[in-house]
Amino acid sequence: MAKNLRREFLKKGLAGICGAAVVPGVMGPRSARAASAAARFTSAGAVPALPSRPLGKTGLVTPLISMGTAEAPTVEFIRQGYDAGIKFFFSATYYGHGNNERLVGQALKDLPRDSFVVGTAAAAEGTDTRAGALPKDMKAESYVKTAEESLKRFGLDHVDMLFLPFAEKREFIVFDPVLEAMTALKKQGKIRFAGIATHGGCDVALRAAADAGVYDVAMTSYNFKIGNKEAMDEALAYAAKAGVGVFAFKTTAGGGRAKAGAPPFDSDAALKWVLQNPNVSSIISGMSTVEEMRKNLAMIKDLKLSERELQSLKLAAASPELDLYCRQCRQCAPQCPARLDIPALMRSYMYAYGYRNPAQARAALDAVEMGGDPCSACETCRVSCASGFDVRERITDIARLKAVPPEFLRG
Ligand code: SF4
Ligand code: SF4
Repeated sequence: MAKNLRREFLKKGLAGICGAAVVPGVMGPRSARAASAAARFTSAGAVPALPSRPLGKTGLVTPLISMGTAEAPTVEFIRQGYDAGIKFFFSATYYGHGNNERLVGQALKDLPRDSFVVGTAAAAEGTDTRAGALPKDMKAESYVKTAEESLKRFGLDHVDMLFLPFAEKREFIVFDPVLEAMTALKKQGKIRFAGIATHGGCDVALRAAADAGVYDVAMTSYNFKIGNKEAMDEALAYAAKAGVGVFAFKTTAGGGRAKAGAPPFDSDAALKWVLQNPNVSSIISGMSTVEEMRKNLAMIKDLKLSERELQSLKLAAASPELDLYCRQCRQCAPQCPARLDIPALMRSYMYAYGYRNPAQARAALDAVEMGGDPCSACETCRVSCASGFDVRERITDIARLKAVPPEFLRG
């Protein structure tokens, strides 16, 4: 029965939209590829020291590359990262419905606890991602409980960093129950450091985190395609001055992929661009193959951007309408009469096509309140996207993922 269903989905082309990882049946070869590549990736016994930077006032020094584990295929793959010198492993409660935290915990459980750093993003129950708001009646205890459940999944007595995701607005970040919960978790020794994770309004979020006095770290979208570089650089400097250590993600602006017709893309150049800013301590890179890991680790040894690399970034930024990366500027939100959370839907689209991670795409999709085919009621789309995306076409396309039973998605 399950086999028939899988065959049916493959026939309808859903594997095509999400890459080869949609169904367990096609996950095997990917894992096998990663495992065989992993076997060729040898570390010289002792864990090598990688180029590193201090992480704010935490006292930690972190290699310039950290591992986002959402796409990590196996326990062995994460261990390969550790053996290669990666120290920080980032998961989230919503990656694979908690399975990703279990995978990370399993990979690291026998290692000396002070030799790695684990972080996770845990959304507070009832978070309204579209409005960027927390429930008015939220209690600190409920967020403490969310964090404790995460600890159980990791199988650890503490996580080093707990990030509050969807943090865009100041009032969200400085909301008393959250600050209370973070403070209590630190006191109880269940987390060492509190943080925020932000996709949109990142400059505002970084400043709010720095002002709150409770956050030690932040994770922010930062890449060569951002439209507000000056404001972001000022906010990064502001956070650094307050002692907040910053990780950057979404650094390749769409997983290094774009729509057909876009110019070729140099991911090394994109990552180097991010690390030119000394206030970014490390990049969270969502690696899924040893080749990607090897490439990232080679890149951090020489951060100088050549003329050719700069030119390639300029070219890649010249056709925003072909991007998979949505700048999360939210200009579209008030234009849609159905009040769809278009930035979240564009993130889901990017996870599917750019990161080739259907489970992550589905998790982003599930956070959006909408019917099966939300754009079908509109004769014409009233949204004019700042990047020139055909949002209706992208939403109609990604909405199909809702019809796939979650057990068919990797994670
Ligand atoms: S206007 Fe376009 S780029 Fe901006 S958030 Fe909306 S979809 Fe993304
Ligand atoms: S077609 Fe455009 S205006 Fe209509 S629901 Fe979809 S995004 Fe909104």
